[in-house]
Amino acid sequence: MKDILETIVASELKDGLKSVSIFDYKYPGLRISEIRTTGFRVYLQLEHTQHPKCPECGRICSRIHSRQTRTVRDYPLFSETELFVKFSARRVRCECGCRKTELFSWVEPRARLTNELISWIQALLRLQMPLADVANFVGVSWDTVKIYDKLQLENFFAEIDLSHARHLAIDEFSLHKGHRYATVVMDIENRQVLWICKGKTRKAIRPFFELLRTKNCINNIESISCDMNAAYARLFREEIPDVKIVYDLFHVMKNFTEVLKEARKRCSSALGKTKELKERNSSSIKDLRKAEWILVKRADDLSIKRKELLDRLVEDNALLAALAPIAQAIREIWACKLPAKASELLTKTRLLLLESAKRFDFAPAKRFAAMLSRRMEGIVYAGQLGFSTNRLEGANNKIKTLRRTSYGFRDIEYFFLRIKAALPGIKRNPWMDMKRGTAILKSGFWRATFT
Ligand SMILES: [Zn+2]
Repeated sequence: MKDILETIVASELKDGLKSVSIFDYKYPGLRISEIRTTGFRVYLQLEHTQHPKCPECGRICSRIHSRQTRTVRDYPLFSETELFVKFSARRVRCECGCRKTELFSWVEPRARLTNELISWIQALLRLQMPLADVANFVGVSWDTVKIYDKLQLENFFAEIDLSHARHLAIDEFSLHKGHRYATVVMDIENRQVLWICKGKTRKAIRPFFELLRTKNCINNIESISCDMNAAYARLFREEIPDVKIVYDLFHVMKNFTEVLKEARKRCSSALGKTKELKERNSSSIKDLRKAEWILVKRADDLSIKRKELLDRLVEDNALLAALAPIAQAIREIWACKLPAKASELLTKTRLLLLESAKRFDFAPAKRFAAMLSRRMEGIVYAGQLGFSTNRLEGANNKIKTLRRTSYGFRDIEYFFLRIKAALPGIKRNPWMDMKRGTAILKSGFWRATFT
């Protein structure tokens, strides 16, 4: 390998420097004075061919204050190698009084990686390659990759254009298992995360509305979807008096799943009241595990095995049998585009719930029915709006996956940026603006000489 390299740079090692090689583009003002290889590592020693330029006034300075030796990683010459470049950075003693270190177009002050290598790392990250894999593949540390990932994400996602948002969805998720919370605001039409904050209180969310106001976008907002359980509705009305509040199906199903969970627990303890009963009913009790997930599913989505399980559940447990048709009834309300028809369906569903509550003395069904009637207006409007619920569900799942794979992210700001990047919107994805051979550096945007 060393032989090949020496052939390539032979022209530079000769005195004349007549021919131009790739290295003149890579390291302007420098030439290769030595090549060393150890294993898969290649070391290039560079020497200056010109006097330094003053970083303040741009004058060429022949007087040098001091030199500092730097070794940086560069984009590999051959895919199986790692390239290290050693050179000296000179501090000038300029007539203008400047005593600063010269600047290089291909590497930033104090950086350990060249701009080209950073652009490669950022391109891999834009291709959704996991951070740990990028670190491993390029051969740099996890923390280094994170620095450049964050720089890139900040550039695109620190502040998102709100001017297109018409229909919002607000949702909360736990940051750590059941502990601290965060709130996310989405443009539900564009499937884009617009804003995220720590906490789920009104005080935590209010800055979003202030931002909408500063950007002159508050009057664009037509509807906000949220969980029936959440106490946001009053805040939304205070902030945007005309806004339609919508209760989305995804959250309502989540709430109904909780009702079914209570029912499942009730059935389970009824079947296993005594030791004797527990033994006799062991297979029925086993069937009950996660019954709520079977009961909220669309019948068409169940496998044959699951369908059989559903039949057994309904047969063995009268309470579950009474609640079984309700998930489908709820779905029908949300699928209904006509308000009058939707409220009729809602009334029917509430009656079903109230009947089961009375017959089985089952309070959770009654509470759920009461919640539905309090939120009537927002439920009926949901069908008219006609946004598919899997948008919010999809976003929710993406955030959960990110949380699972980013257990090492102690940097919450970085985690929030990653969420925004994972849901950049289907219409205007800022990722697409970046070309190969470009990088977001600490000093700003950089473009390679050849691009
Ligand atoms: Zn100067």
